[in-house]
Amino acid sequence: MKKTLKSKRPKKTQGPTVESIRREKAKARELRQTRWWQNQLSAGVCHYCGKTFSAQELTLDHIVPVARGGKSTRGNVVPACKPCNSEKKYYTPAELILRDKMNSNIQF
Ligand SMILES: [Zn+2]
Repeated sequence: MKKTLKSKRPKKTQGPTVESIRREKAKARELRQTRWWQNQLSAGVCHYCGKTFSAQELTLDHIVPVARGGKSTRGNVVPACKPCNSEKKYYTPAELILRDKMNSNIQF
């Protein structure tokens, strides 16, 4: 009798798949077209530093990055100025607090 190897199911991995990242990025593009987002931009306040910017200077930022499983929903999307956005990179809010506390960059 021939023994067949049972194909093991791949373990559920943490974090988003390429497909879900693509989906959330598409949703972010749609969100940019909404009146709600236009209102965020015209308010012009960066979520992180609290300074006021023109709409052109603000970018759409995911509080929890898409690459870390964040969703393109109103609760997870905020206007951020370019310096804050590039400073934040892919960190989650908890990691940013941790980084500030350690007063240095942390590697993951
Ligand atoms: Zn800012």
